[in-house]
Amino acid sequence: MTDAGASDITRAAERLAARLPPALAPLARVAYDYGWTWRSGATELFRAIDPHRFAQAADNPVRVLLEADPRALERLAADPSFVERARAVAATLQEDRARPAAGSPVAFLCTEFAIHRSLPVYSGGLAVLAGDILKEASDRALPFVGVGLFYRQGYFRQRVDHAGWQHEYWVDEPGDRLPVALVTDGEGAPVTVTTSIYGSDVRARIWRADVGRVPLFLLDADVPQNTLVDRWITSRLYIGDRRIRLAQYVLAGIGGVRALHALGIEPVVWHLNEGHVAFAPLEVARATGLGFAEAIAAARDHTMFTTHTPIAAGNEAYTGAEIAEAIGPLPEQLGADVKDVLALGRARPGDDHEPFGLTPLGIRLARTTNGVSAIHGRVARAMWRHLFGDARDDDEVPIASVTNGVHLPTWMGAPMRALLTRHLGEGWEARAADPRTWDAVEAIPDEELWAVRNEQRARLIASARERAVGDRLARGEPIPYAQAALRSFDPDALTVGFARRAAGYKRLYLFTHDAARLLSLLEGPRSLQLLLAGKAHPQDDEGKRMVQRVFELKWAPHVSDRVAFLEDYDLALASHLVSGCDVWVNLPRPPLEASGTSGMKAALNGCLNLSVADGWWAEAYDGTNGWSIEARPGTDPTAQDAHDAAALYDLLEHEVAPLFYDRDAAGVPRAFVRRIKSSLRTIGPRFNATRMLDDYAALRSGPAGR
Ligand SMILES: *Cc1c(COP(=O)(O)O)cnc(C)c1O
Repeated sequence: MTDAGASDITRAAERLAARLPPALAPLARVAYDYGWTWRSGATELFRAIDPHRFAQAADNPVRVLLEADPRALERLAADPSFVERARAVAATLQEDRARPAAGSPVAFLCTEFAIHRSLPVYSGGLAVLAGDILKEASDRALPFVGVGLFYRQGYFRQRVDHAGWQHEYWVDEPGDRLPVALVTDGEGAPVTVTTSIYGSDVRARIWRADVGRVPLFLLDADVPQNTLVDRWITSRLYIGDRRIRLAQYVLAGIGGVRALHALGIEPVVWHLNEGHVAFAPLEVARATGLGFAEAIAAARDHTMFTTHTPIAAGNEAYTGAEIAEAIGPLPEQLGADVKDVLALGRARPGDDHEPFGLTPLGIRLARTTNGVSAIHGRVARAMWRHLFGDARDDDEVPIASVTNGVHLPTWMGAPMRALLTRHLGEGWEARAADPRTWDAVEAIPDEELWAVRNEQRARLIASARERAVGDRLARGEPIPYAQAALRSFDPDALTVGFARRAAGYKRLYLFTHDAARLLSLLEGPRSLQLLLAGKAHPQDDEGKRMVQRVFELKWAPHVSDRVAFLEDYDLALASHLVSGCDVWVNLPRPPLEASGTSGMKAALNGCLNLSVADGWWAEAYDGTNGWSIEARPGTDPTAQDAHDAAALYDLLEHEVAPLFYDRDAAGVPRAFVRRIKSSLRTIGPRFNATRMLDDYAALRSGPAGR
């Protein structure tokens, strides 16, 4: 069933293979299967072809194979060891794709997917989660397909000027050099689907990307038959114009369902990841041909909905008129009145003045709804209780929770993964959700674990230095100051990381809340260094000011050697940071952090979390596996900021730094390593995507949510 477009990928790979020396031909198919990104050894192969070009091409293997100097390719083709390694990786992926999968698929719908940095159709955590779910489904050979949008310009790229102000720019990324293929029909013509949006028949073609065994279908409205405005619908992720954003949501939801139907795919489950895709069940209902009420009930029976944030910007609402205009003929096609459809997105069905919310729509149209951590489940039950007139208190609101997890092979650094393979046994990743698998962590000699930590930190510092030089040059800083970054930062110093969207509630500004205390942490023999990153939404001036406040300290003592704001946070930077930092800080204003996932990635690498006890950390922290700042939701924000900033400085100064620098004769910080082991053992088995998919399967097969 999920073969749609498979032959298009195969043909694209064959065209690429035809341009390569025969001995390297197997690499072409590898390049068209993102499964290579979490198989050990594959990155090294592509990098060996031309390290500079590979990096320039955002690690896109199709481009490196297309654009490499033919002599470099010939040289590698004559190297038996390289050819053998290429053949082995190709064989591994081929065998993986050949595993049978039974049954109709789960369709996972989301407006963004973070698969790899070369496919820029993502912004942050929501997309990473979606990508990690597809990867985990692939590992387990589950019948699964992803559906989303193909944004020609992706999410914005970030530049910060010498005054610390963020600027945005967009880069065109046409599909023809990406590891994707246009899905075609029997005659070789692109398959297109048509969706009525604002009264216009918007055509979209469909790209396929292979995420291991799982196909990801991405709709693209940039086709000549569309008006210029309609072609712009899939230009940019979370585009500023709310009218076009709504068009994106209609295309992703309605068009997404039509696309799968056009490809002959009939999922057993439609998993709506966030309200952006909540229109989808309306099209599922329409396609049943039943009367309105029965059709909605039938669609709901096959729908799961995950809500991801209590933040208003993540729970968009539109006026009834805006919705009616956007979806046009859909109510009539459903055999319903516009009012009946609008009622689905409102708490009070008859109230024309109430905005139409995408989250209420998702909740109403799904058999099960869940939040993404235990706390977030509670917050969501309180937040959406008014949708359930008969629910007497929050506990009776049928919203469950499935705590997020991360795809372990994607996020664990190579040195750490090799260490665990040595001690936990070959193939341990398949047993990662079993706590007993991690028992063997205790027996790893401290020296070995510490050596891996040192190696991962040293790699991070080397790349942070290079990035910092480039960032400073691009900002127009004096050249000596830019060059100084190459000698800044210390591969052996306590390295603290904080990287996430620069949204107000994430409180990056707590670091600079008391500048004198921050500066004192940067000096002396037990000092720390701080690596920061994160993008503010283009329209979020508060977020941009938060970034700017970091830059105001630029000329203070030690800052230029000890603090870097690394620009243009993306998957690659995230992976460097979580693998190399010693401590990962998270300072959300409780209870607004629905889950958080970067701290899970950090923990898998032996990096310790220091976080406000919100989201996932409230479930994970046990007193031995990191540090926690008490969450006191509902207190006065100013007092809360002062308290939490002081707690942050106190922990860093009195607990983290002493533990990190307290070395024995062998140079090992025993107590710090003990915490790392505890963190691996307690967090490793629980906050991974294997456990998360088990939880989703249980939710699916359990009783209906309402
Ligand atoms: C993991 C990740 C996130 C999510 O981080 P949070 O902890 O949820 O803030 C955001 N952006 C990128 C690039 C990531 O890799």
